Amino acid sequence: MNQPKLAGVSTVTATTIMPGESSNLARRSQYNPGQDLTRRELGSFIAGAASTVFLMDLPAQTPPSLSIQVRGTYSSPAPFWRTGSRLDLHGVNAVFVHGGSINAELVERASSEGAKVYAEFATLNGKGYVETHPEAWPINERGEQAPAATWFLGACPTEPGFRAYRLQQLGDLLDKFALAGVWMDYFHWHAQFEEPEPILPETCFCPSCLGAFERATGLRPGGASTAEKASWILGRHDSTWRDWRAEVLVEWARLCRGVLRRKRPEALLGVYHCPWTDAEFNGARRRTLGLDFDLLSPEVDVFSPMVYHKRMGRDPHWVRDYVEWISQRLPASVRIWPIVQAHGSPSAVSAAEFEQVMRGGASGRASGLQMFTIGAVAEDPEKMEVLRRLYRGD
Ligand SMILES: [Zn+2]
Repeated sequence: MNQPKLAGVSTVTATTIMPGESSNLARRSQYNPGQDLTRRELGSFIAGAASTVFLMDLPAQTPPSLSIQVRGTYSSPAPFWRTGSRLDLHGVNAVFVHGGSINAELVERASSEGAKVYAEFATLNGKGYVETHPEAWPINERGEQAPAATWFLGACPTEPGFRAYRLQQLGDLLDKFALAGVWMDYFHWHAQFEEPEPILPETCFCPSCLGAFERATGLRPGGASTAEKASWILGRHDSTWRDWRAEVLVEWARLCRGVLRRKRPEALLGVYHCPWTDAEFNGARRRTLGLDFDLLSPEVDVFSPMVYHKRMGRDPHWVRDYVEWISQRLPASVRIWPIVQAHGSPSAVSAAEFEQVMRGGASGRASGLQMFTIGAVAEDPEKMEVLRRLYRGD
């Protein structure tokens, strides 16, 4: 998600939450989740048994322009709140925020404005950990520590210390906040897909991974050095290696789900993931990143393809193409809530382009949507208007 690159979206400070503002804006708001009930009660009171007829004469509440249930945003809503607006005034009913940026004030205010809070949970990123725990640094086919892939550095997914550390973090996060869900981010083996030209290294051949592979498959890699063992695996048992790597990520999803079940049984488990088809880049989504949609579908409630058209050098129309493709590809039991790009990197995303990718993101059988980032929307009045129109429908 590259959260650290963003300026000014990290935490909500006390000064951005103005209690007096909430009540004033609530009075001005035409969007009231209790509105239907009030209308029904009023109709019954006035018309008695004829209340049904009475209700039919009332104008229906304007539906949102996008026919999705979960109208989300990504990153801290602080910049949005600084514009003086409320989430419900823009039709937002879900905020996705980096786990480390969630605090009690944010949860309280989002909730008071009708929005559920979901945590982005950085799962398999290694920066900040592997430097002091080199045993978890991904090892490449030459037996060396894999270099960072532009700004991303992964962690070894089988190293027991790292695994325990990450799952403890997840448990602590769920203990602290009543979250509606947790979205696994950086959920892949070390690689870089958020660029036009992806970086797809071969990892991980550390002692932990070689041992786990051997135990899982019964194959004993030949050779003395790490490089020789890697060569033996890739040369003779490539497909078994790819299968095993995919299973390691499935196991991670199961472990995260286990923590959710214990701490917040009602919370959803989502995944932010690489938006490639099965065939693109020679099948690298599964082959290198380790993401097997068929194996992950039973373990994950919601898939959020990161359809960042600008960053990945794609046409805005690609967003719709991909969401329609994945709508066919995933089983009906899995929900699809894409995340589209509003942020101007590496070049500006206009309000019209933002609307196009939002509409593309809501296509297929998508039932939710979010954008990277709400801060990028908040700084542009035209994008704010697009958001309100698409989410509120008026
Ligand atoms: Zn490893």
